Amino acid sequence: MQVTAIIAAGGRGQRVGGEQLKQLLPVGGRPILERSVSAFLAHPAVHEVVVALPASLVENPPDYLRQTTKPIRLVGGGARRQDSVANAFRASAASSEVIVIHDAARPFASADLIARTIAAAAESGAALAAVASRDTVKRASDHTVVETIPRETIFLAQTPQAFRRDVLQSALALGARENSEATDEAALAERAGHRVQLVDGEATNIKITTPEDLMIAEAIARSPERLARQPPKPARTGRAGTGYDLHRLVEGRPLILGGVTIPSPRGALGHSDADVVCHAVTDAILGAACLGDIGRHFPDSDPRWKGASSLDLLSRAVAIVAAEGLEVGNVDVTVILESPKIKDHVDAMRAAVARAIGMDAARVSIKGKTNEGVDAVGRGEAIAAHAVALIRMKN
Ligand code: MG
Repeated sequence: MQVTAIIAAGGRGQRVGGEQLKQLLPVGGRPILERSVSAFLAHPAVHEVVVALPASLVENPPDYLRQTTKPIRLVGGGARRQDSVANAFRASAASSEVIVIHDAARPFASADLIARTIAAAAESGAALAAVASRDTVKRASDHTVVETIPRETIFLAQTPQAFRRDVLQSALALGARENSEATDEAALAERAGHRVQLVDGEATNIKITTPEDLMIAEAIARSPERLARQPPKPARTGRAGTGYDLHRLVEGRPLILGGVTIPSPRGALGHSDADVVCHAVTDAILGAACLGDIGRHFPDSDPRWKGASSLDLLSRAVAIVAAEGLEVGNVDVTVILESPKIKDHVDAMRAAVARAIGMDAARVSIKGKTNEGVDAVGRGEAIAAHAVALIRMKN
């Protein structure tokens, strides 16, 4: 299922005050916008991100909106929220079946919440994150209570809100015809006659609107629970990760190593292109960031990754790590293969792996070894690779 994320960052956020755009203010040392966008760029269910921004930011975007390996598009915001979202929707890939919309001003939505909202929309057509009201709710007129509304019927809407493409299209068409400003897309979907499903939101998924919200956001960003979920920041010396992969060798398969096809009577057996070099490097990079492994992010049970190029998966792993503010310092790989010899192909492999990572080939090392006839690898029944990657904080 193809999913586009739209980040609504078109407003100027005057309630927080100051000269700087609200969405660029730092929280816990990172800009609010960078936190919101990276939650979706790093999310395995999201294929592309469209950000609706004030014109000044579209013209001169910060680095974190430019240097991404997942597709990202920047569009100008409109006069009203629904106009900004409509601009972003027009820029989304026509093949996207579900569109998930999120306020840039909510930097703390968890990956689980994003996944739950997308899944609910895929099933029911429209879904939004919402939390039950903890306070008693009064309806009032002229500062006098008219009635007390039963609290259990009250839910406070958050984002993400997600929609099947056709549902969002009809909701935005209604929004374009109306004179008023809708405060969220779910309201337009409701008025267009669609059923909107509630998904359990999160108390920490706050919207930063006032200076007081900024103080609360700082506390959330620095809370032990949130810091524990984040990989610890590497020291200046960086962090190392290791990766290992092995595939059987069979006749009738190409032998692809580091994205390069090596002439060989036998190739590696596997669901994908069975590229042990890319698989080991991908695991080493994810491992150095404490972000799991290739199987967690790109499960071979998911048809999206069937037949995927392993160089592409490596690029996506680098993007996942980059969303955490990390970059790859260098990579060293040992390929264990009885025959053929790989030395004539090493430079092409280094260049391809370096290109996938987005760095200079001088920082990618690939070496070949045999197993001296010992064990299954030595008998030529399998090929294996070991990799070490060093990662470090981006400047
Ligand atoms: Mg493998």
